[in-house]
Amino acid sequence: MHEQDTICAVSTPPGEGGIGIIRISGKDAVLIASGIFRPRTKGGTVLGASHTLRYGHVVDPSTGALVDEALVSVMRAPATYTREDVVEINCHGGMVPLWRTMSLLVAAGARQAEPGEFTKRAFLNGRIDLAQAEAVMDIIRAKTDLALRAANEQLLGGLSAEISALRDRLISIIAAMEAGIDFPEDVESEAGKTLGEEVSRVLDGIDGLLSGASFGRILREGFATAIVGRPNVGKSSLLNALLRQDRAIVTEVPGTTRDVLEEYVNVAGVPLRILDTAGIRHSHDVVEQEGIRRSLSAIGSADIVLVVLDGSQPLMPEDRLVLDTVSGKNALAVINKSDLPRKLEANGQPETQVVVSCRTGAGLEDLRQSIVSMVKKGTVASREHAWAVNQRHKTALEQTKDSLQRALETITSGLSPEFIAVDLRGALDSLGLVIGATYTEDILERVFNDFCIGK
Ligand code: GDP
Repeated sequence: MHEQDTICAVSTPPGEGGIGIIRISGKDAVLIASGIFRPRTKGGTVLGASHTLRYGHVVDPSTGALVDEALVSVMRAPATYTREDVVEINCHGGMVPLWRTMSLLVAAGARQAEPGEFTKRAFLNGRIDLAQAEAVMDIIRAKTDLALRAANEQLLGGLSAEISALRDRLISIIAAMEAGIDFPEDVESEAGKTLGEEVSRVLDGIDGLLSGASFGRILREGFATAIVGRPNVGKSSLLNALLRQDRAIVTEVPGTTRDVLEEYVNVAGVPLRILDTAGIRHSHDVVEQEGIRRSLSAIGSADIVLVVLDGSQPLMPEDRLVLDTVSGKNALAVINKSDLPRKLEANGQPETQVVVSCRTGAGLEDLRQSIVSMVKKGTVASREHAWAVNQRHKTALEQTKDSLQRALETITSGLSPEFIAVDLRGALDSLGLVIGATYTEDILERVFNDFCIGK
């Protein structure tokens, strides 16, 4: 059994840093770490009591050669991240000391961990459920305070508790049916009505959770935002003005050229993911055709389009072209250059218009407010509190919903109770997928492969 072995990984990002941490987990973690560590103070065991730190050196046991100065913490099961014995070696944050230490650990019998394997063990050993395990990654990837708060709530078990409560309700409905108490022999009977009502109540709960799906997607991926307009209206100035005040984070998309930087603007906790920032910044360099093609493709994948117009000039044919292209989209007109005399006659399209000056910063606060209300429209507006449901949860919740709806149809059509029970049990299983009460190897692989090494 592969879960029995002791695993190790560098848990800090690659590159140079003040410290680099190697994490070891498993039944031999303390033994293996002790073999390559020479504590500074003599006497006692090599690694002391649980949850203590020890200062010393990593040494190659076969030669006695010194590898690095280190602080080593030992945490004995079960009060640890994985519920197994865990040792963390704090080396200097360089590639060579970390990899030399790693190879000594592997030579001593530890295995290099797979991505997310520490968290996977925390799940398999019952410390956290699957939705909480996913929250760990959401915390690491959070782009704004709001996203961090939502991920923390999920890690604390908020979403899990709601799922468990719905599962408990389903279990008691099924149990009552199986005991023959609530057999709805005819739909018009009291028992038939009660059963229908109870199933509907669970269905409402599922709908409530599903309403958080778009909120969750926005928090995780950002609200895809296209900034479009003819040359010289101030697209690049707008992007810079927003970034200057609210830059959230810049991530380099792996495997792409330096040009494809994803930039996030933090608008009241909502991360706006600005599409084609290279296109906006270099619109003067690219031939017009290419500029238009990029704008169109950005518009196509956008959740919101900011159409920039120059308020100091009359509306031009190119402006009309852009406005026509975005008609029917979730668009907002940004009438720029309010510091200059107004020449533009707005034609009322799109409906939401904000007047700004990227030069003075006037109106940018109004723009932020307008964006936030457009984000909220149709996402979180309907609920006080929405869980940041992810795509995997959404699929499982939709399956649950289908099963419950089928059960309701069966109840109204007066078919045999066995059919109802089959659908209710199906609903219970798919609901269980969210927290991992039911799971397959395949699901675990998909969840944890998305993690980083060492987590
Ligand atoms: P883009 O081609 O749409 O990206 O436009 P730019 O952001 O490069 O801006 C074009 C020109 O308009 C530049 O000379 C900017 O300095 C100027 N500009 C941008 N915003 C404002 C503004 O609010 N007021 C004034 N007066 N000029 C602006």
